[in-house]
Amino acid sequence: ESSLVGRRYESSAAAVDSSDVPPAEKFEYQAEVNRLMDLIVHSLYSNKEVFLRELVSNASDALDKLRYMSVTEPDLLKDGPELHIRIETDKDNGIIMITDSGIGMTRQELVDSLGTIASSGTAKFLKTLKESQEASVDSNLIGQFGVGFYSAFLVSDKVAVSTKSPKSEKQYVWESEAESNSYTIREETDPEKLIPRGTHLTLYLKRDDKGFAHPERIQKLVKNYSQFVSFPIYTWQEKG
Ligand code: ADP
Ligand code: MG
Repeated sequence: ESSLVGRRYESSAAAVDSSDVPPAEKFEYQAEVNRLMDLIVHSLYSNKEVFLRELVSNASDALDKLRYMSVTEPDLLKDGPELHIRIETDKDNGIIMITDSGIGMTRQELVDSLGTIASSGTAKFLKTLKESQEASVDSNLIGQFGVGFYSAFLVSDKVAVSTKSPKSEKQYVWESEAESNSYTIREETDPEKLIPRGTHLTLYLKRDDKGFAHPERIQKLVKNYSQFVSFPIYTWQEKG
């Protein structure tokens, strides 16, 4: 396990010149995303643990996409043939990190995917919400439809997505706080966070949800919800 981490850092550590990095750019969410975020952040939805299923399923989708595309574009795998998902926890600081070696996102794909409602399931969710008269039905709908990536905010104050597409020279970080109505995108400059390819998610858990950063809890959730994911999922905790 530790050798995996070591390899990840090795190839990229020297590549950063932080003196030459453009500042973070700020973006406003599409109005629908604001509505959704508002609902997620303030909902009393009790089954918050679905966030892990949603994020692991996105990681799995990204790996599937890479595998599929690499049939005709084998070069996409030049930064490493391994297709896997890693989940790391830091229980003292209430942090969960989910990393996949999938297709990643370019800067434009970040804006298109994580600032608008990309998923038709999520759009349907909002439509049903609009049509429903009872406010009490809201929280059940989250479970019924799934709210994709934004379900990270069921348990997080802040989310960072650091991502490297094989089609992009650079790695970018998308960051947003639960109550902010906006997100930022900047170039990744932390050498420890550079990855050859794929996506590295960091969830900064809400005070009351820090318990999710216990490795036993994560392992149980992975077992319950993500048992049919066709890529290996490695879990381990930060050494304290
Ligand atoms: P859905 O998965 O139904 O499309 P989500 O809200 O879960 O909706 O995700 C929105 C989009 O964000 C995805 O379609 C994908 O383009 C992008 N995305 C999310 N997570 C990842 C990831 N780990 N790697 C690459 N792209 C991702
Ligand atoms: Mg999804």
